[in-house]
Amino acid sequence: MNIEVKKISFSYDKSNYILKDLSLTLREGERVAIIGQNGSGKTTLVKQLNGILKPDSGDILFDGQSVLPKSIAQLSAKIGYVFQNPDDQLFLSTVRKELEFGPGQLGFHGEECRKAVEEAADVCGITQYLDTHPLDLGASRKKICAIASVLSMQTEVVILDEPTMGQDREGLRRLSEIIDSVKEKGRTCIAITHDMKFAAENFDRVIVLMKGEILLDGTAAEVFARPEVLKKSFISPPPVTRVWQKSGGKGTVFSVKEFAERICLDE
Ligand code: ADP
Repeated sequence: MNIEVKKISFSYDKSNYILKDLSLTLREGERVAIIGQNGSGKTTLVKQLNGILKPDSGDILFDGQSVLPKSIAQLSAKIGYVFQNPDDQLFLSTVRKELEFGPGQLGFHGEECRKAVEEAADVCGITQYLDTHPLDLGASRKKICAIASVLSMQTEVVILDEPTMGQDREGLRRLSEIIDSVKEKGRTCIAITHDMKFAAENFDRVIVLMKGEILLDGTAAEVFARPEVLKKSFISPPPVTRVWQKSGGKGTVFSVKEFAERICLDE
């Protein structure tokens, strides 16, 4: 599903505009990281896509059709949204029930629902916890459970709000696998993140928001090659990229291996 955001503006109080004439096209199957200072409007933007918020002006099209008249329930069949805090999302007594809830609401039945749950649990590595109470999972796994409960709905777009928060190394590895699996299925994955290393390593495209407008939009290599522009939004490239740039390197590197290779090449 292609998404077109056309010149949307939005304010909570009808005076202070949080999104300003913002336009954006998201192509089917893209992995897109949205970054920006706290308060730059990232969450407000993604909530326009799933209908939790409606723009004051402008339009949002899914495959050429305006979605503004559609309800949150209708849009939730297309856009899965994983809240920043899993406690805002999980409310049932087992992980299995959490994963069954969304597909059940979308009308999945019997075998279809069972398969969707099994697949999401498998991708997220929580099959052995299906009969566990979500509150008995550790913080990191609870967040992964919240992601699984959205993946089981098999929506065309998955939005992750700060997925790396509270994740250990194993959780980060799992998140990369989850994002890859969404891409393999041809679905779109959008993540809001403050983790620049995670953004650079896992997403095809990085969008920088500043005060409700798009400051930069491109590949991680294009965006993080502009530290002087990123500074306006109080964002720094990933640590290894910063060391590379401070030592006079051109453009970007995103791993120590790449750093070493480029040093050898430049000699
Ligand atoms: P980000 O996700 O980039 O941190 P948000 O979209 O959460 O930014 O917030 C953008 C601005 O909108 C902030 O100034 C925030 O205080 C304000 N805001 C967010 N939610 C509400 C709300 N429910 N009511 C009023 N203002 C809000």
